[in-house]
Amino acid sequence: GATIGFLGGGQLGRMTAFAARSMGYDIHVLDPEAACATRPIASRTITAPFNDVNAAIELASQCDVVTLEIEQIHPSVLDAVAARTALRPGRDPVYIIQDRIRQKQWLKSHGFPLGRFVAAQQASDIADMVRECGASIAKSTHGGYDGRGQVRLSDPEQAMDAWTALGSRECLVEQKVSIHYELSVLVARSPSGATAVYPPSRNHHTSGVLTWAVVPAVISDEMAQRAQTLARTVAERIGIVGLLAVECFVTTDGELLVNELAPRPHNTYHHSERGVATSQFEQLVRAICDLPLGATDVFAPSAIANLLGDVWLQDSAPDVTHALNVTGSRLHLYGKAGARAGRKMGHLSAVGDSAQDALGRVLESYRRLSPGTISSFDVHEPVLAH
Ligand code: ATP
Ligand code: MG
Ligand code: MG
Repeated sequence: GATIGFLGGGQLGRMTAFAARSMGYDIHVLDPEAACATRPIASRTITAPFNDVNAAIELASQCDVVTLEIEQIHPSVLDAVAARTALRPGRDPVYIIQDRIRQKQWLKSHGFPLGRFVAAQQASDIADMVRECGASIAKSTHGGYDGRGQVRLSDPEQAMDAWTALGSRECLVEQKVSIHYELSVLVARSPSGATAVYPPSRNHHTSGVLTWAVVPAVISDEMAQRAQTLARTVAERIGIVGLLAVECFVTTDGELLVNELAPRPHNTYHHSERGVATSQFEQLVRAICDLPLGATDVFAPSAIANLLGDVWLQDSAPDVTHALNVTGSRLHLYGKAGARAGRKMGHLSAVGDSAQDALGRVLESYRRLSPGTISSFDVHEPVLAH
């Protein structure tokens, strides 16, 4: 059978690798960590940093197609892989997305709706932005995820500290958007240009980290259409082959804005393994292997809640039995060795009769698993409404 190479062997690679193995593909992975989450599912692991061109060439020479689960891969490595085998997604969308400023400027130049932002070259640019726009968020250009590499400011006086905290180098500064709710839309696109758009996911973040996500999103049909059209258009314009997740804000004024893009499977679509006709992982395999894209209908409302390392750092061990006694719930662990605060270790999922029901179940399951950490995000079940 054919071999798929993965640049990056974290949980996204692992879950994609499970799907790919089920479909008969062989998996090779390149990751800096020897004990990466994808290793047990791969027949070959290359342990090397992501900027190691020779290691990437070795991977490419063994694989029929190479994909990635992180966007921070040096362009010279992407070029080296693309020169030897099919790289999907290709260099250009990854290059645009991997730098927050480049990504924002690309979105702006293509007319997509965004909040206000500026590329700060010095601390005073941050201060000017806060003076002009009020509360803002400064973000490092490369490498941030789960809200890392971000500093929130409400006073121009905080600009110098923010500049220093982000390494005293160019950074992105965004006006803090008044968020009504957050959405994401996942798009799959084949080499031929065929697309499959997922129904929007409704997402909740706490301190910059995803806490839960649910489909269907419980939004108006008009908003769902708008978000799906927006995401499809971005995917086509940027020329993704594989998956593109478009993270959006719906503001308290009802505006739909793009937050950021991800050229890979996305944490907010882990529920697609439970309630959508084709999981995002299978869909990625279909897209990069030029197979027909699968249906994206939601056949069961489903929700996920992230499990961070904090769950395993409590005085009492997580109560898996109690948690899995919630009807419709399931536990997914990523097989990561050490639990650290804030590290994504797994997630819970649940299906239900409605989005509200699925969300209620997954949060109940979480509460039973780890009563000590749920209060850190949402004690009360949120009411989904638009
Ligand atoms: P991810 O883990 O999704 O890659 P990230 O670290 O790249 O996240 P962002 O998506 O930029 O970070 O921000 C994380 C969260 O912080 C957002 O989902 C949102 O809840 C909040 N946030 C980010 N930017 C803004 C903004 N300009 N206004 C209001 N809230 C924001
Ligand atoms: Mg991000
Ligand atoms: Mg994000």
